[in-house]
Amino acid sequence: MLRVLILGGTAEARVLAAALADRRDVQCVSSLAGRVSRPRLPVGPVRIGGFGGPDSLADWLRANGIGAVIDATHPYAAGIRRSALLAAPAAGTAYLRLERPGWIEGPQDRWHRTVGFEAAAAAAAGLGHRIFLTIGRQNLSAFTALHDRWILARVVEDPDPVPPNMTLLRSRGPYSLDSETSLMASHRIDVLVTKDSGGPLTEPKLVAARSLGIPVVMVDRPPAPPGPADAAVVPDVAGVLRWMDRLIQAGSG
Ligand code: NAP
Repeated sequence: MLRVLILGGTAEARVLAAALADRRDVQCVSSLAGRVSRPRLPVGPVRIGGFGGPDSLADWLRANGIGAVIDATHPYAAGIRRSALLAAPAAGTAYLRLERPGWIEGPQDRWHRTVGFEAAAAAAAGLGHRIFLTIGRQNLSAFTALHDRWILARVVEDPDPVPPNMTLLRSRGPYSLDSETSLMASHRIDVLVTKDSGGPLTEPKLVAARSLGIPVVMVDRPPAPPGPADAAVVPDVAGVLRWMDRLIQAGSG
């Protein structure tokens, strides 16, 4: 029996937990950060809350007899990714990163890539007056200095404090192309700001921006934290399942 920890908070992590739920050779627990008050829960056992850093995560892995950590967290969740990269080898636990590929700019797109959210705010201010922020709530403060712009910020839950220069739109994806197009058109958005989250669930905003001729400020993913050079990364759940089958076969051989 392989005991698996899925570091989650993403759609892929929920798909993975569902795929492992009925297996007899795998027992898995999903972990969520506890950031939102009503999280989408994966199938199966779930624990919620931070571990307390890499050393405490390593202790948790040992104490729970975890044989494999699957880091399926969001591409911008750099803290937990760093922790897992350090904790897994320290605990002698196999490690795999599941990371969906970033989006690719097409010939009709007008993307402006930036490193960091301050640079994104400067780029957005240079491109338009009615800005649509789809970056979550954690980095809104980078945009609070833009007093002479109208800013619509889409969030799952309110930031604390609520930036006074923003109109909040509380909602949770996925979104359709029709709804994204009419949202941007009705608010006369002239620049979209997004993380390079990748995946199909939030991609319609990019298609809508393309069809409306709206420029996009794309905040680059954070760089991979230091860790073992051979730490494996796969782009999808099928890759995780293949990796896990190899791990189980190697363990029983
Ligand atoms: P982060 O900056 O990497 O995390 C900060 C701290 O929160 C981590 O050091 C860890 O605390 C704890 N943590 C994060 N994810 C955890 C998990 N799955 N299980 C247990 N503890 C976790 O992460 P974040 O960007 O705030 O994202 C938090 C969660 O939301 C992640 O699980 C991520 O998959 C999900 N999410 C993030 C985004 C995004 O844009 N950042 C978007 C969608 C979903 P300790 O150091 O105490 O262990």
